[in-house]
Amino acid sequence: MSTIGWMNQVKETRRLLIAYAHPDDESFGLGGLIAKYVAEGVEVSLICATNGDVGTVSPEMLNGYNSIAELRLAELDKAAEILKLSQVFRFGYKDSGMMGSETCDDEQCLWQAPQDEVTHRVVEVIRQVRPHVVITFNKYGGYGHPDHIAIQRATTAAFPLASDPNYLTGDLAPYAPQKLYYSSIARRQLNMIIRVMKMRGQDPRALGKNHDIDLVRIVENAEPIHTLVDIRRFYKDWDAASAVHKSQLGGRMPRMPKSLRPILTPYQGFTRVYPPPTSSRIDERDMFENVTLEQPALAPVP
Ligand SMILES: [Zn+2]
Repeated sequence: MSTIGWMNQVKETRRLLIAYAHPDDESFGLGGLIAKYVAEGVEVSLICATNGDVGTVSPEMLNGYNSIAELRLAELDKAAEILKLSQVFRFGYKDSGMMGSETCDDEQCLWQAPQDEVTHRVVEVIRQVRPHVVITFNKYGGYGHPDHIAIQRATTAAFPLASDPNYLTGDLAPYAPQKLYYSSIARRQLNMIIRVMKMRGQDPRALGKNHDIDLVRIVENAEPIHTLVDIRRFYKDWDAASAVHKSQLGGRMPRMPKSLRPILTPYQGFTRVYPPPTSSRIDERDMFENVTLEQPALAPVP
Protein backbone atom coordinates (compact mmCIF):
# COMPACT_ATOMS: atom_id res chain seq x y z
CA MET A 1 0.00 0.00 0.00
CA SER A 2 1.40 3.43 -0.90
CA THR A 3 1.96 6.10 1.75
CA ILE A 4 -0.89 8.18 0.32
CA GLY A 5 -3.22 5.19 0.31
CA TRP A 6 -2.46 4.55 3.96
CA MET A 7 -2.85 8.22 4.91
CA ASN A 8 -6.23 8.35 3.21
CA GLN A 9 -7.45 5.67 5.55
CA VAL A 10 -6.48 7.57 8.70
CA LYS A 11 -9.73 8.95 9.94
CA GLU A 12 -10.26 12.11 11.94
CA THR A 13 -11.31 11.43 15.53
CA ARG A 14 -15.06 11.38 16.03
CA ARG A 15 -16.24 13.82 18.68
CA LEU A 16 -19.38 13.89 20.82
CA LEU A 17 -20.54 16.73 23.11
CA ILE A 18 -23.10 16.17 25.85
CA ALA A 19 -24.80 19.31 27.24
CA TYR A 20 -26.37 18.38 30.57
CA ALA A 21 -27.23 20.15 33.82
CA HIS A 22 -26.06 18.37 36.98
CA PRO A 23 -23.02 16.46 38.22
CA ASP A 24 -24.54 12.92 37.92
CA ASP A 25 -26.76 13.40 34.82
CA GLU A 26 -23.92 12.14 32.63
CA SER A 27 -23.41 8.94 34.64
CA PHE A 28 -26.97 8.05 35.67
CA GLY A 29 -28.36 8.92 32.26
CA LEU A 30 -25.64 8.12 29.74
CA GLY A 31 -22.90 6.16 31.56
CA GLY A 32 -23.31 3.12 29.29
CA LEU A 33 -23.47 5.16 26.11
CA ILE A 34 -20.39 7.24 26.97
CA ALA A 35 -18.40 4.08 27.80
CA LYS A 36 -19.43 2.52 24.49
CA TYR A 37 -18.36 5.45 22.35
CA VAL A 38 -15.13 6.03 24.27
CA ALA A 39 -14.30 2.32 23.76
CA GLU A 40 -14.79 2.93 20.03
CA GLY A 41 -12.31 5.79 20.07
CA VAL A 42 -14.77 8.69 20.18
CA GLU A 43 -13.72 11.80 22.15
CA VAL A 44 -16.59 12.60 24.51
CA SER A 45 -16.82 16.04 26.16
CA LEU A 46 -19.37 17.25 28.68
CA ILE A 47 -21.01 20.51 29.68
CA CYS A 48 -22.22 20.39 33.28
CA ALA A 49 -24.19 23.63 33.65
CA THR A 50 -24.78 23.66 37.42
CA ASN A 51 -22.91 22.77 40.59
CA GLY A 52 -25.72 20.49 41.76
CA ASP A 53 -25.81 22.35 45.06
CA VAL A 54 -29.48 21.79 45.93
CA GLY A 55 -30.70 18.80 47.85
CA THR A 56 -30.01 17.08 51.06
CA VAL A 57 -26.68 15.44 51.65
CA SER A 58 -26.00 13.58 54.87
CA PRO A 59 -23.47 15.47 57.06
CA GLU A 60 -20.88 12.66 57.08
CA MET A 61 -20.75 12.86 53.26
CA LEU A 62 -19.64 16.49 53.56
CA ASN A 63 -16.55 15.57 55.58
CA GLY A 64 -13.58 17.21 53.88
CA TYR A 65 -15.69 19.48 51.66
CA ASN A 66 -16.68 23.12 52.21
CA SER A 67 -20.01 22.86 50.45
CA ILE A 68 -22.41 20.55 48.66
CA ALA A 69 -21.21 22.08 45.35
CA GLU A 70 -17.60 21.13 46.13
CA LEU A 71 -18.64 17.57 46.98
CA ARG A 72 -20.80 17.16 43.87
CA LEU A 73 -18.09 18.52 41.57
CA ALA A 74 -15.50 16.21 43.15
CA GLU A 75 -17.85 13.30 42.42
CA LEU A 76 -18.11 14.54 38.83
CA ASP A 77 -14.30 14.60 38.53
CA LYS A 78 -14.18 10.95 39.59
CA ALA A 79 -16.92 9.98 37.13
CA ALA A 80 -15.12 11.87 34.33
CA GLU A 81 -12.00 9.85 35.07
CA ILE A 82 -13.86 6.52 35.04
CA LEU A 83 -15.73 7.39 31.85
CA LYS A 84 -12.54 8.84 30.26
CA LEU A 85 -14.22 12.08 29.27
CA SER A 86 -11.95 14.27 27.14
CA GLN A 87 -13.07 17.61 28.61
CA VAL A 88 -15.59 18.80 31.18
CA PHE A 89 -16.92 22.36 30.95
CA ARG A 90 -18.48 23.53 34.21
CA PHE A 91 -20.72 26.55 33.82
CA GLY A 92 -21.02 27.03 37.58
CA TYR A 93 -24.69 28.04 37.83
CA LYS A 94 -26.58 27.23 41.00
CA ASP A 95 -28.88 24.23 40.88
CA SER A 96 -32.49 25.48 40.53
CA GLY A 97 -34.17 22.66 42.40
CA MET A 98 -37.62 21.63 41.25
CA MET A 99 -40.20 23.95 39.67
CA GLY A 100 -41.98 26.07 42.28
CA SER A 101 -39.29 25.65 44.94
CA GLU A 102 -37.61 28.65 46.61
CA THR A 103 -34.23 27.78 45.05
CA CYS A 104 -35.80 28.19 41.61
CA ASP A 105 -36.12 31.96 42.33
CA ASP A 106 -32.43 32.39 43.23
CA GLU A 107 -30.99 34.81 40.68
CA GLN A 108 -27.78 32.79 40.39
CA CYS A 109 -29.56 29.57 39.46
CA LEU A 110 -29.59 28.25 35.90
CA TRP A 111 -33.37 28.64 35.51
CA GLN A 112 -33.06 32.41 36.17
CA ALA A 113 -30.02 32.92 33.90
CA PRO A 114 -30.79 34.80 30.65
CA GLN A 115 -31.13 32.19 27.90
CA ASP A 116 -28.91 34.27 25.56
CA GLU A 117 -26.09 34.09 28.09
CA VAL A 118 -26.30 30.29 28.46
CA THR A 119 -26.66 29.89 24.68
CA HIS A 120 -23.52 31.99 24.14
CA ARG A 121 -21.56 29.76 26.47
CA VAL A 122 -22.75 26.63 24.68
CA VAL A 123 -21.76 28.14 21.30
CA GLU A 124 -18.27 28.83 22.71
CA VAL A 125 -17.92 25.21 23.80
CA ILE A 126 -19.18 23.86 20.44
CA ARG A 127 -16.66 26.04 18.58
CA GLN A 128 -13.88 24.90 20.89
CA VAL A 129 -14.67 21.15 20.95
CA ARG A 130 -15.90 20.96 17.31
CA PRO A 131 -18.16 17.95 17.98
CA HIS A 132 -19.77 16.03 15.11
CA VAL A 133 -22.68 15.05 17.37
CA VAL A 134 -24.38 16.99 20.19
CA ILE A 135 -26.73 15.51 22.83
CA THR A 136 -28.96 17.35 25.27
CA PHE A 137 -32.22 16.65 27.15
CA ASN A 138 -35.64 16.53 25.50
CA LYS A 139 -38.13 19.43 25.71
CA TYR A 140 -39.58 18.11 28.97
CA GLY A 141 -36.06 18.07 30.45
CA GLY A 142 -36.16 14.30 30.98
CA TYR A 143 -38.47 14.47 33.98
CA GLY A 144 -39.45 18.15 34.09
CA HIS A 145 -36.40 19.50 35.93
CA PRO A 146 -36.02 23.26 35.20
CA ASP A 147 -32.22 23.00 34.83
CA HIS A 148 -32.61 20.24 32.25
CA ILE A 149 -35.13 22.38 30.35
CA ALA A 150 -32.82 25.43 30.53
CA ILE A 151 -29.79 23.61 29.07
CA GLN A 152 -32.01 21.93 26.43
CA ARG A 153 -33.27 25.35 25.25
CA ALA A 154 -29.80 26.90 25.25
CA THR A 155 -28.24 23.96 23.38
CA THR A 156 -31.03 23.83 20.79
CA ALA A 157 -30.53 27.58 20.15
CA ALA A 158 -26.73 27.23 20.12
CA PHE A 159 -26.66 24.39 17.56
CA PRO A 160 -27.40 26.54 14.46
CA LEU A 161 -25.70 29.67 15.88
CA ALA A 162 -22.35 27.85 16.19
CA SER A 163 -21.97 27.87 12.38
CA ASP A 164 -23.27 31.43 11.91
CA PRO A 165 -20.30 33.67 10.95
CA ASN A 166 -22.22 36.73 12.18
CA TYR A 167 -22.48 35.30 15.70
CA LEU A 168 -19.22 36.26 17.35
CA THR A 169 -17.32 34.48 20.13
CA GLY A 170 -13.88 36.12 20.22
CA ASP A 171 -11.27 34.20 18.23
CA LEU A 172 -13.29 30.98 17.97
CA ALA A 173 -14.14 30.16 14.36
CA PRO A 174 -17.68 29.18 13.31
CA TYR A 175 -18.28 25.44 13.26
CA ALA A 176 -21.22 23.29 12.17
CA PRO A 177 -21.90 20.13 14.18
CA GLN A 178 -23.71 17.58 12.03
CA LYS A 179 -26.27 16.05 14.36
CA LEU A 180 -28.36 17.12 17.36
CA TYR A 181 -30.12 14.61 19.60
CA TYR A 182 -32.40 14.70 22.62
CA SER A 183 -31.89 11.87 25.09
CA SER A 184 -35.03 9.84 25.58
CA ILE A 185 -36.39 6.54 26.69
CA ALA A 186 -38.74 4.71 24.36
CA ARG A 187 -42.37 4.68 25.54
CA ARG A 188 -42.42 0.90 25.28
CA GLN A 189 -39.40 0.62 27.57
CA LEU A 190 -40.88 3.12 30.07
CA ASN A 191 -44.20 1.28 30.14
CA MET A 192 -42.38 -1.94 30.83
CA ILE A 193 -40.48 -0.29 33.72
CA ILE A 194 -43.80 1.06 35.12
CA ARG A 195 -45.33 -2.43 34.97
CA VAL A 196 -42.36 -3.98 36.75
CA MET A 197 -42.44 -1.27 39.45
CA LYS A 198 -46.14 -1.80 40.09
CA MET A 199 -45.56 -5.55 40.34
CA ARG A 200 -42.86 -4.85 42.92
CA GLY A 201 -45.15 -2.55 44.91
CA GLN A 202 -43.20 0.59 43.95
CA ASP A 203 -44.89 3.86 43.00
CA PRO A 204 -43.93 4.88 39.44
CA ARG A 205 -45.21 8.44 40.09
CA ALA A 206 -42.92 9.22 43.05
CA LEU A 207 -39.45 8.07 42.22
CA GLY A 208 -36.12 9.27 43.46
CA LYS A 209 -34.60 10.66 46.59
CA ASN A 210 -37.10 13.54 46.63
CA HIS A 211 -40.01 11.53 45.23
CA ASP A 212 -40.33 14.07 42.45
CA ILE A 213 -39.83 11.87 39.40
CA ASP A 214 -43.12 10.85 37.82
CA LEU A 215 -42.66 8.09 35.22
CA VAL A 216 -46.24 8.47 34.01
CA ARG A 217 -45.64 12.17 33.14
CA ILE A 218 -42.34 11.18 31.51
CA VAL A 219 -44.22 8.77 29.22
CA GLU A 220 -46.78 11.49 28.38
CA ASN A 221 -43.97 13.85 27.38
CA ALA A 222 -41.85 11.28 25.52
CA GLU A 223 -40.81 12.31 22.00
CA PRO A 224 -40.39 9.87 19.08
CA ILE A 225 -37.23 7.78 19.13
CA HIS A 226 -35.17 7.61 15.96
CA THR A 227 -31.96 6.11 17.26
CA LEU A 228 -31.37 3.12 19.49
CA VAL A 229 -27.82 2.43 20.63
CA ASP A 230 -27.01 -0.98 22.09
CA ILE A 231 -25.31 -0.51 25.49
CA ARG A 232 -25.57 -4.09 26.82
CA ARG A 233 -21.79 -4.55 26.95
CA PHE A 234 -21.31 -1.44 29.08
CA TYR A 235 -23.41 -1.95 32.23
CA LYS A 236 -20.24 -2.36 34.30
CA ASP A 237 -18.89 1.05 33.29
CA TRP A 238 -22.35 2.57 33.73
CA ASP A 239 -22.50 1.20 37.29
CA ALA A 240 -18.94 2.24 38.12
CA ALA A 241 -19.52 5.85 37.01
CA SER A 242 -22.90 6.04 38.78
CA ALA A 243 -21.44 4.64 42.02
CA VAL A 244 -19.09 7.61 42.53
CA HIS A 245 -22.05 9.99 42.81
CA LYS A 246 -22.46 8.63 46.33
CA SER A 247 -24.28 11.71 47.67
CA GLN A 248 -27.08 11.13 45.16
CA LEU A 249 -27.55 7.40 45.55
CA GLY A 250 -30.32 5.91 47.57
CA GLY A 251 -33.52 6.02 45.63
CA ARG A 252 -32.86 8.41 42.78
CA MET A 253 -32.89 5.54 40.31
CA PRO A 254 -35.53 2.83 40.42
CA ARG A 255 -33.98 -0.21 42.04
CA MET A 256 -34.27 -3.02 39.56
CA PRO A 257 -32.83 -6.49 39.76
CA LYS A 258 -29.75 -6.56 37.54
CA SER A 259 -31.06 -9.60 35.69
CA LEU A 260 -33.90 -7.48 34.28
CA ARG A 261 -31.60 -4.86 32.83
CA PRO A 262 -30.96 -6.48 29.44
CA ILE A 263 -34.74 -6.56 29.02
CA LEU A 264 -35.58 -3.11 30.45
CA THR A 265 -32.62 -1.02 29.24
CA PRO A 266 -30.73 -2.81 26.48
CA TYR A 267 -30.65 0.36 24.38
CA GLN A 268 -30.22 4.07 24.88
CA GLY A 269 -32.86 5.92 22.87
CA PHE A 270 -32.58 9.34 21.20
CA THR A 271 -34.83 11.72 19.35
CA ARG A 272 -33.01 13.11 16.31
CA VAL A 273 -33.61 16.83 15.99
CA TYR A 274 -31.07 17.56 13.26
CA PRO A 275 -30.96 16.46 10.49
CA PRO A 276 -34.75 16.43 10.84
CA PRO A 277 -36.26 12.95 10.74
CA THR A 278 -38.58 11.99 7.91
CA SER A 279 -40.72 9.74 10.12
CA SER A 280 -41.29 8.80 13.76
CA ARG A 281 -39.59 5.46 13.27
CA ILE A 282 -36.28 4.11 14.43
CA ASP A 283 -33.88 4.48 11.52
CA GLU A 284 -30.45 4.41 13.18
CA ARG A 285 -28.42 2.23 15.53
CA ASP A 286 -25.42 4.55 15.73
CA MET A 287 -25.32 8.29 16.41
CA PHE A 288 -22.41 8.72 14.00
CA GLU A 289 -24.29 7.20 11.06
CA ASN A 290 -23.96 9.53 8.02
CA VAL A 291 -21.44 11.74 9.81
CA THR A 292 -18.73 12.97 7.46
CA LEU A 293 -15.23 13.16 8.87
CA GLU A 294 -12.74 15.59 7.43
CA GLN A 295 -9.64 13.94 6.07
CA PRO A 296 -6.60 15.04 8.02
CA ALA A 297 -4.04 16.88 5.89
CA LEU A 298 -1.82 14.47 3.98
CA ALA A 299 1.76 14.31 5.16
CA PRO A 300 4.16 15.32 2.38
CA VAL A 301 5.57 12.26 0.65
CA PRO A 302 9.37 12.36 0.90
ZN1 LIG B 1 -30.11 16.45 36.47
